Amino acid sequence: MPDMDAGMLSPQDLEKITALVSRYNIPRIKITGAQRVAFLGMEPKQAESLQRELHVPEEAPHKNGRLHYIQACPGNAWCKYGVADTLRMHNRLKNIELKNPLPSKVKVGISGCRMCCCESWVRDVGLVAEKNGWRFTFGGNGGGRPRIGDIVADGLSEDEAITLIEKTLHYYSTTAKFKTRSARFMERIGIEALQKAVLS
Ligand code: SF4
Repeated sequence: MPDMDAGMLSPQDLEKITALVSRYNIPRIKITGAQRVAFLGMEPKQAESLQRELHVPEEAPHKNGRLHYIQACPGNAWCKYGVADTLRMHNRLKNIELKNPLPSKVKVGISGCRMCCCESWVRDVGLVAEKNGWRFTFGGNGGGRPRIGDIVADGLSEDEAITLIEKTLHYYSTTAKFKTRSARFMERIGIEALQKAVLS
């Protein structure tokens, strides 16, 4: 599954995907819930070759202190309800480089208004644009043990939100045990402790 920028595709991207699908004779393609394209039914050797061609990293990106699982809705560029530029936020978060590897994968949901189409409440990092700024939640999870994220802060500018996310992820990466998802981490430490560590 190659990464895609918030599921945004140009006509040229679609043409490239079609060409790859024909060349590798891929039987089925899936647009995943995580805004990525999955090539299904490939032989392992073929899949490895395609991975190399698409420069899909072998190691999970969170091990290098990078965010990878970032979903964003179209935001104010493409949706009439959007009150902020979710795609620019997506690009900025994608380029964050943390000093330490993250304990586990961190999923991000960026929604351009309170309708929350990117399910930000149930993402490790949730961002929702409101008229007075970004609301940042941490510790959400939509998996087997679902959890609504805790509000860390709201009314944030784009720069403030990025800085706070970096501080929160640094705290998480230096405090949580290996493989602990943010939801379980937040259940253990509580929102007050996190706010005390990152808002001061
Ligand atoms: S969250 Fe709001 S801005 Fe984003 S797609 Fe949904 S309605 Fe549009």
